[in-house]
Amino acid sequence: MPAPIGVLALQGDFREHRQTLAAIDVASVEVRTLADLAKCSGLIIPGGESTVMQKLAVAYDLFQPIKDALKSGLPAFGTCAGLIMLADEIVDGIPGQTGFGGLDVSVRRNAFGNQLDSFEVDLDFHGVSGPAVHAAFIRAPIVERVGENVEVLSSLADGRIVGVRQGNLMGISFHPEVTGETRIHELFVSMVRA
Ligand code: GLN
Repeated sequence: MPAPIGVLALQGDFREHRQTLAAIDVASVEVRTLADLAKCSGLIIPGGESTVMQKLAVAYDLFQPIKDALKSGLPAFGTCAGLIMLADEIVDGIPGQTGFGGLDVSVRRNAFGNQLDSFEVDLDFHGVSGPAVHAAFIRAPIVERVGENVEVLSSLADGRIVGVRQGNLMGISFHPEVTGETRIHELFVSMVRA
């Protein structure tokens, strides 16, 4: 049996990610300790609140170990706050805010402002075939800059980037785990198993 996919379970919608993995018959573990991290073949960083996730990762002695694991090639998939945690540069963070990094992108937090706090839209997503991906955006970030080794996987109709991949790291602005969309998780699992 392949090693389980870890879901960082400090804060945010980690349960929904585990349900999505269960729906495609993929075993998962909640990651709260170094021992949990050591068990997993890939890591999902959920949506939630990136500032709180950073503080809890430090408090649980996971911040540097996750950073190191990503640098050593552990595959990771971040949604929304998880994308922020994977970005090398955070725009509009709170003072001192940093993520684990790894993706050579700049990500702006809460990029849609107050009027458009949450919305849903259908997207094309590179690597996902069949009907459009129905995407829920909730106080979502936008990718404002991508480095030369970053592949854009998905954009809004106006061109703003909402999905990226660089090597073993993938980050998206929205929440497939809350709309019953399983194909992006399948794509991540195939990255992990490749
Ligand atoms: N606005 C949140 C943050 O900055 C992200 C929101 C989300 O994950 N739905 O972390």
